[in-house]
Amino acid sequence: MVPPSQTNTIDFDAAKLQRLGFSSTRAQSLQPVSLAQLRQQLGMQLQTSLDAERILKLFFAQVQRLVPLDALAYQYPISDLRLDLGARANHSAAYRLSHEGEYLGELIFRRKHRFNDEELGQLESLLASLLFPLRNALLYRAAIQSALRDPLTDTGNRIAMDQVLQREVELARRNLQPLSLLMLDLDHFKAINDQHGHSAGDEVLKAVADTLKVQLRNVDMVFRYGGEEFLVLLSGTCRDAASMVGERLRHAVLELQCLAQGRPIELSISLGCATLLPGESAESLLRRADNALYVAKRDGRNRLTMAG
Ligand code: GH3
Ligand code: MG
Ligand code: MG
Repeated sequence: MVPPSQTNTIDFDAAKLQRLGFSSTRAQSLQPVSLAQLRQQLGMQLQTSLDAERILKLFFAQVQRLVPLDALAYQYPISDLRLDLGARANHSAAYRLSHEGEYLGELIFRRKHRFNDEELGQLESLLASLLFPLRNALLYRAAIQSALRDPLTDTGNRIAMDQVLQREVELARRNLQPLSLLMLDLDHFKAINDQHGHSAGDEVLKAVADTLKVQLRNVDMVFRYGGEEFLVLLSGTCRDAASMVGERLRHAVLELQCLAQGRPIELSISLGCATLLPGESAESLLRRADNALYVAKRDGRNRLTMAG
């Protein structure tokens, strides 16, 4: 028998911080320092992570060694990042961060009592230490996000789908919640490409993806699974409700009015629907939805079939 191997996990961010002499204990991290010392320490510390949230939390904790704060809010809508640290307070100092014309978000310091000029100068000086680490973290975040999206339809790609499906199956099992899955495929899409050209086909794919997103509550759950196949994950949704959603999607696509050089394009989708069974794996759930889709195609297309 193979002995069970021991697994050690090292949090490199925390480990690196410790090597640099920064303990995570609150008492130590809140010892007062001079502006120059804090800038130097922040310069090293903020480089220890590529996670924007972690960097901002570190920054918030450390800045307070020099300038007392009640809250820090940050937002960067471009990649859907929003962070509210601390408690709300009346007085604020807001900064629009940018570097050489590149927008890096809005940051607001808040406090119960007013900031004086010296403190504002200190905060601005400390913000300089945040700039490059934050910029790197935002670039990293954008790279991760684009690696998980399909550029044509702006839905999740297959990598994202695999990750989200595994996570949702585990969550559904743990919370004893239903989980359903719709696998859908455009009917006779090859003929659309043949008759109207590949770029018209691309436009149709985008229009169908937009329709799915408009119809669904949670747009993060739409994935482009193959060329003209999409997968919709419906968490907390039982078999009957999923069937209703599927029918709604089918009708919405039927009613889509796509034109190619002024000529209408006839569009329909076929769907397979499966609901997670007790103890079922993600792979098995996918397979059942795929089989149901196959039956919908075989039985004439433009229809929804429920998995057995
Ligand atoms: P069925 O009703 O059985 O699904 O027929 P179909 O023609 O939709 O299916 P088939 O699998 O024969 O053809 C799928 C077509 O989708 C072939 C392929 O060229 C096209 N396709 C795949 N990805 C893209 C894409 O990104 N853009 C365009 N325009 N076409 C694509
Ligand atoms: Mg097809
Ligand atoms: Mg297909």
